[in-house]
Formats: sequence, C-alpha cells, structure tokens
Amino acid sequence: MMAVVKAEAALGFSYIEVARPRPGSGEVLVKVKAASACGTDSLIYDWEPWAEGRVRPPRIVGHEFAGEVAALGDGVTGVDVGQRVSAESHFFCGTCPQCLAGSQEVCHNLRIMGVDTDGAFAEYIAVPAANIWLNHPDIPDQVASLQEPFGNAVDTVLAEPVSGKRVLIAGAGPIGLMCAALARAFGAIKVIISDPNEYRLELAHRMGADIALNPKVSPITGPVLSATRGEGVDVFLSVSGNPKALIDGLTLLAPGGRASLLGLYNKPAPIPLNELVIFKKLRLYGITGRKVFATWQTTSRLLSSHKIDLKPLITHELRLDEFDKGFELMRAGRCGKTIFRP
Ligand code: NAD
Ligand code: ZN
Repeated sequence: MMAVVKAEAALGFSYIEVARPRPGSGEVLVKVKAASACGTDSLIYDWEPWAEGRVRPPRIVGHEFAGEVAALGDGVTGVDVGQRVSAESHFFCGTCPQCLAGSQEVCHNLRIMGVDTDGAFAEYIAVPAANIWLNHPDIPDQVASLQEPFGNAVDTVLAEPVSGKRVLIAGAGPIGLMCAALARAFGAIKVIISDPNEYRLELAHRMGADIALNPKVSPITGPVLSATRGEGVDVFLSVSGNPKALIDGLTLLAPGGRASLLGLYNKPAPIPLNELVIFKKLRLYGITGRKVFATWQTTSRLLSSHKIDLKPLITHELRLDEFDKGFELMRAGRCGKTIFRP
C-alpha cells in the first residue's frame, strides 16, 4: 500500500510503498477514507526538536482519521467488517492506576498513533479494538476524521460550564475555532478570540466568535475590557502555545475565573503565579487528549445532531500524495483543517 512516511531523520515526508499491516490479535484493520492533518504532524514534518527526541523513523504518520473496517484480528468482538469507524489516537495500557480509575488520557504507558506507532496517512491502518469508535451514520468521513481534535476542544471548553459566561480564546487554529463554536453552542454570552493570523480570524467569525482580535495589530487588553464592562472575562481558553497570549489571557481573566490550558509550549512559559493565579483565586485545568470514551460520546452527539457544524473549518481536501501542499498551507497558516484522501 502507499503511505506518507517519516522515512529518515530529516525534513519532510516521503510517499512510498510499504507493506499493508495485518491485524494482530485484538486488532482491527481499517481502510482509511479520510485523514486530517494536525500540528503534531507538522512538527514531525519539520523535524522539530520534540519530534527528533520522540519519533523513530521509518514511521507512517497521521492520527486523525475515519474509514471502514476491512478485517478483524483474532478475538475481536463488537465491530464488524464494513462498519464505519474512527479511533482514539492514544493507546492506553488499561492496567495502570490511571487507566483503572478511568483516566486513560493520562495512562502511565501512553503511546500515540503516528508518533510512537504507525499512523493513518496510509491506505490501511491496524488499531487495537479497544481504541475503535463506531462512527454515527449522519457524520460524513471528512467530519468524522475531526472527532479526535474536536474532543480536545470539548474537554477544553466544557471543563466547567460556559453558559452565561464571557469567554476569551487565545489561538484561532483549528482547535481554537472549534472552541469558539462550542462556547457559542453551550450558551456563552460573549466569545472573544485572538490570533495574529487574519485568515483564521476571518474563519473565527464563521465559527461563532463575536469579536476576533489580532494581537499583532494592537494589544487585545482594551477591546476585551470594553467588551466586558472593564471586568475581564469569566473563562480563558489557552489554545495557542504562545507564552505572551497565556499571560495576557490570565491577566484578562476576572478574579475567581476559570482557565483551560491545552496549547503546548516549546519552552517553559514564565507565569507570575502570585499575581496572576493565586491572589486571583483562579481555577486552572491542564487538558490533555480526550476522555475515553466519554468525550467521544459528546463529540459524536454534537456532530450528528448538527448542534455544531465543523464543515466551514475544512478548507482543503487533497489526495494523500499531495501531502507536501497540505503541510505548506499549514506552515503559511492559510488553512483551517486539511483532509487527505488515500
Ligand atoms: P495551531 O498551531 O494550528 O493553532 C495555534 C494558533 O495560535 C495559530 O493559529 C497561531 O497563529 C495562534 N497564535 C500564535 N501566537 C498567538 C498569540 N500571541 N495570540 C493568539 N494566538 C496566537 O494548533 P491547533 O491544532 O489549533 O492546536 C492548538 C494548540 O493545542 C497547539 O499548541 C497544540 O500543540 C496544542 N494541542 C494540545 C493537545 C493536548 O493534548 N494538550 C492536543 C492537541 C493540540
Ligand atoms: Zn494505563
């Protein structure tokens, strides 16, 4: 089969012929119909320090997908050949204290699809049956492939209720834009988003943001305070990975407010904890992965009921062999989500 592979420890990917995986015991072989590109794939493409320290080439990349079950390994029950599926991208051991307590997203022995194991930018992928999610018939494949990052957004926004709250989102990347749609759908009074990328600010309005601010053009403090009667916001969602945006957001969060931190930093982010967190009595949530499968149930219901429409986020659909174009678009910030079709 053909696959997009990190073939060697250098910049870029290769589109090459590899052996089709065979489903081992307890595994499901899935024929991939749609796979979406994520920032993590970009880090591996660019061979950033994080990728260099973690990924061992050759490795098929990609971890957000939807497809159809092609074959079952020994002992698999509860899923049939031909069913439409996606999969939780974090492989959990099921036996560590966190897994036993139902927090698989922080499993001690976590491995990630397309990072530590072969991924979904391929014609087929073999996945443990424990990770398989049956897709709702009303969710098309390209949208179903977004359930994985959408789950990050669901856990970020819904760590506490947003109904009646004023919400500030730092970062209008795909996940920030999903957060805007969720905050709107769950009754936020005001949804404010910031991003230095005008293309993405434009998308933010279509995804439900009331106010879209460019911190490169002018500081966001004035507009956020005037939109909140000088009080600041009740909820801050950090989905940019930019330390300055994190500090601005915590500064603009009213005392007693809640922040969800999903964005990842490529170096330690210095936060004046006394002034910005402790004396303000903030509640901070670190968000990682998704709850398995509670969050998947929520994402599936939101998408199948059309309570949230992710289609405006899908700005490009490419053949899998056009992957270079997809990653160029991501680097230039001139896309929402890009879907690859094997
Ligand atoms: P992305 O890189 O596409 O989006 C980040 C956005 O932040 C970009 O649009 C960028 O222009 C914007 N940005 C940069 N500087 C900014 C600033 N000063 N103010 C406001 N916005 C700024 O990434 P994404 O796929 O949307 O993911 C969002 C973040 O979440 C990333 O940092 C990613 O690494 C992280 N992430 C974490 C998890 C987890 O499990 N914790 C999972 C997925 C993604
Ligand atoms: Zn575990």
